[in-house]
Amino acid sequence: MNINKNDVFTVRIEDMGSEGEGIGKSEGFTWFIKDAIIGDVVEAKAMKLKKNYGYARLLQVLEPSIHRIEPKCEFHRQCGGCQIQALDYSQQLLFKQNKVSNNLKRIGGFENPNVLPVIGMENPFYYRNKAQFPIRQDKDGSIITGFYAGRSHTVIANTKCYLGIDANETILKKIIRIMEENHISAYNEETGTGLVRHVLIRAGFTTGEIMVCLILNGDKFPCEDKLVENLREVEGMTSISINVNKKNTNVILGDKVRTLWGQDYITDYIGAIKYQISPLSFYQVNPIQTKKLYETALDYAGLSGNETVWDLYCGIGTISLFLAQRAKKVMGVEIVPQAIEDAKNNARINGITNAEFYVGKAEEVLPRKYKEDGEYAEVIVVDPPRKGCDETLLDTIVQMGPKRVVYVSCDSATLARDLRYLCDRGYETVKVQPVDMFGQTVGVESVVLLSRTEGTPRADYN
Ligand code: SAH
Repeated sequence: MNINKNDVFTVRIEDMGSEGEGIGKSEGFTWFIKDAIIGDVVEAKAMKLKKNYGYARLLQVLEPSIHRIEPKCEFHRQCGGCQIQALDYSQQLLFKQNKVSNNLKRIGGFENPNVLPVIGMENPFYYRNKAQFPIRQDKDGSIITGFYAGRSHTVIANTKCYLGIDANETILKKIIRIMEENHISAYNEETGTGLVRHVLIRAGFTTGEIMVCLILNGDKFPCEDKLVENLREVEGMTSISINVNKKNTNVILGDKVRTLWGQDYITDYIGAIKYQISPLSFYQVNPIQTKKLYETALDYAGLSGNETVWDLYCGIGTISLFLAQRAKKVMGVEIVPQAIEDAKNNARINGITNAEFYVGKAEEVLPRKYKEDGEYAEVIVVDPPRKGCDETLLDTIVQMGPKRVVYVSCDSATLARDLRYLCDRGYETVKVQPVDMFGQTVGVESVVLLSRTEGTPRADYN
């Protein structure tokens, strides 16, 4: 190959990598080109060369792919948020189905995995119920907010993100105006000075309730009354609060919250279950798709009302409470104590009495409950973070031998690894249902049904 660094060349994009980058080949050399999509012919500049592959920067699209569309957001290339906005939505769903399928083949060694078509969104924009906007000062001293440029902490000024709700823009403009009129400073990450760090906005999609929380590098906002007076005008405003974070860290929220006006929380529903969400609590960011994801998990659990079910990595108990509607008993396990408090509270406000929650590591609590208390399960649900399940946990699942395991995953690579482990020890993967929770991005969630193939399940009511 006779292309050197900084050379400009032309290539046809034949595939897309798991991070959404376009992949093209010329003279046996493979190019990875961000923002190029399958089917494009592009002009690109060589940036980094390795032995038989390299990275190049997209200069222009010479022949657009039939799947290329005009992105809504003018910042889609700089912003780190959306990687595949230029790909039409039906192709985004195909891309995600292939990503899951390829990982199951390549990492899991499954020859022909039964990966179903992705359950997509009706509207793949405006779906996020939560946004955290950094507040900064630009070179001219003006207050700006926007998004971090990919892999950096440089803020691109932009109050309009097409993944979030319309009210975000109204709220941000009001806050910026109040800050400018009253000479209130924005936080500076390098010096650790300045007051306003972030604005957190959350919305309950089924209730229309909105929460605003200002994260401050200090205890007080200088004109809190004016802030409340202005923000109250926004339709649906239910909770206005201050969160204090004086630490020089990347972590957005501190642990103290003071409500300035309204309630301490907003309420939202997923299906029939009600959740109270405070600034600090975890809650799924796309509640519409979450409902589809959890309905699939509930369907795969195949409950008749007599079962004992374990929900591992249960967070605030979202899946547990869904399952509790159809099981005899649900036991949730989660490592974060505050999330378990929320789970218990959510059970209480929904009148659910057959769910119990334990704080601890799933890989410690489940083995202990099994060995010491003889606990069992007809169905076990797991929803681990990206790194997947610990082997100790998978071993305990195999020993307990539930009839079905439902694996909810946000990372199909670790999913593939864990499915292989379980399938070498008496389970089979029946089906894999990806669900799109994050349109325009390369993220994909999956729900997998595993069924026991060896021996008789310990307790079988069905
Ligand atoms: N099922 C939950 C969210 C799961 S996200 C819901 O629907 O809301 C993964 C969760 O696993 C997070 O809440 C995280 O705090 C928790 N977690 C991480 N490591 C864990 C471990 N070793 N044991 C138990 N929980 C863990």
